[in-house]
Amino acid sequence: MGKVPDTPENMARCICGGCPSYPKEGGFYCAKGKSDKEITKRGCVCGDCPIFEEYGLADGYFCVDGMAE
Ligand code: SF4
Ligand code: SF4
Repeated sequence: MGKVPDTPENMARCICGGCPSYPKEGGFYCAKGKSDKEITKRGCVCGDCPIFEEYGLADGYFCVDGMAE
């Protein structure tokens, strides 16, 4: 079980779609787990996301490193 509850309400607040590293598929990686796409790190905007603050997340790049635990 990750730190972030995998609810539609939380998913709707994810801002991965506006991230320069977004792999054009999926999202809400802090709850759903990492992407199976190859990702080039061009920055991570998780730090600007309300979910990141609400659940006290750290580091970002959940699309590469997997869900927040
Ligand atoms: S912290 Fe990152 S992965 Fe999690 S909801 Fe926000 S933008 Fe998406
Ligand atoms: S987890 Fe971070 S790096 Fe990955 S797409 Fe979302 S905001 Fe961008």
